[in-house]
Amino acid sequence: MDDTTVNLVIGGAMVPGAATFERCNPMTGAVATRAAAATPDQARAAADAAAAALAGWSATGPGGRRALLNKAAAALEARASDFVAAMMAEVGATEGWARFNLMLAVGMIREAAALTTQISGELIPSDKPGCLAMALREPAGVVLGIAPWNAPIILGVRAIAVPLACGNTVVLKGSELCPRTHALIVAAFLDAGFAPGVVNFVTNAPAEAGAVVGALIDHPAVRRINFTGSTAVGRIIARRAAENLKPVLLELGGKAPLLVLHDADLDEAVKAAAFGAFMNQGQICMSTERIIVVDSVADAFVAKFRAKVETLAVGDPREGKTPLGAVVDRRTVEHVQGLVADAVAGGGVQVTGGASNGVLMPATVVDRVTPSMRLFREESFGPVVAVIRAADEEAAIALANDTEYGLSASVFTRDIARGLKVARRIQSGICHVNGPTVHDEAQMPFGGVKGSGYGRFGGRAGIDAFTELRWITVETESGHYPI
Ligand code: NAD
Repeated sequence: MDDTTVNLVIGGAMVPGAATFERCNPMTGAVATRAAAATPDQARAAADAAAAALAGWSATGPGGRRALLNKAAAALEARASDFVAAMMAEVGATEGWARFNLMLAVGMIREAAALTTQISGELIPSDKPGCLAMALREPAGVVLGIAPWNAPIILGVRAIAVPLACGNTVVLKGSELCPRTHALIVAAFLDAGFAPGVVNFVTNAPAEAGAVVGALIDHPAVRRINFTGSTAVGRIIARRAAENLKPVLLELGGKAPLLVLHDADLDEAVKAAAFGAFMNQGQICMSTERIIVVDSVADAFVAKFRAKVETLAVGDPREGKTPLGAVVDRRTVEHVQGLVADAVAGGGVQVTGGASNGVLMPATVVDRVTPSMRLFREESFGPVVAVIRAADEEAAIALANDTEYGLSASVFTRDIARGLKVARRIQSGICHVNGPTVHDEAQMPFGGVKGSGYGRFGGRAGIDAFTELRWITVETESGHYPI
């Protein structure tokens, strides 16, 4: 078996699928990876293996869990060149994006390691004489993590690191678009010495996603589900989890607004908007999708923004010479082109951008976008950003909130008090004053509202998500009962 073939990992064993599926390099069309296509029975076997390993792992003390997680962080770093090669081949990522993914993912595992001693409870005063009442956090059980392809190391690691730190065992369901990248994460955890069954890995052929994921959600040992992906699939997962009365954490799509108020430092706003809109070709859930500029500074902003964006060249990610690499597939190219055409037909003005060369798409800016255009509402998940002109600050806030999504947002103003007030009125899980919409750190409560999902990864919020809070009492005096 060569290093571009991916197996399932069930109970520590590498298991071939009943069949395989191929992921092709978006640049060349050549097969990048052959991966195991699990059957629902194999998915259930992975959950069984995780269930069997639960007693041992959940009884491992915080020091033991921390030590293994720290080893996994080092093992991940040691596979850096494999990760870069896999991400370039599977999703057309630049080396810079792959290495940034690795760096943040390593930080997430180390942060999870540090959390093992922070999973604390409390003593609660009881009205019952002699009753010692406590709230304890215990592992929830088997955690199913489902991760997408766009920031594959970060999101694959995020799906399992804090759950493991909390004493749960896990099944990672990898993406069909980057099975090798996700398999490398699990390989690093196995390198670190996690016992068989603590970390399991399942991949599926694209057409079988519903059946395989459904089998995992239905499995009685699975007690928590976390899903990062599109809002449409998030709804399917939430419904299935609800039928099983299982809590689910959903990190879904976005349409992040960046507000430029009349007193903004335009140069700072331009830098943040260009980074937020075009890093990883706009394929980040927090990507700046809508720049909402108040009229009084709109012309000046657009002129400066255009000049900046025109310096952002796109090129073959394997050559590593340009800030923008390939988008993930032809479907993205067609989707983005459709959004731009619709906006231009409705009166939008394309400020910069040009023809695509296969999956190499130039950074595109469309000015004078209005709420009636698809580009205002639909997530592009590609290298295009809408500029929307607002009469004033109130109108800018209303436009920012006129969306089904609510993950990240930004406000640019030189008046920090104004920035804070506006930030608090934007309906999103995350908002940055004078910073880009794209910003993630392991210890922060990360997550959205509205169509962007619910629940929070990161720091103490992650502990809440992946533990069961129990109420336990001890009676220290003889009982008095009414009957
Ligand atoms: P996707 O929803 O198409 O796929 C995600 C996963 O869902 C895959 O593993 C797939 O196997 C599974 N799936 C597909 N159909 C299914 C079905 N019928 N039943 C059960 N599972 C099914 O998402 P994607 O294209 O891989 O990722 C891009 C999306 O993810 C974007 O919308 C982006 O905004 C979002 N995203 C969100 C965050 C966040 O933290 N909020 C981060 C990154 C990406």
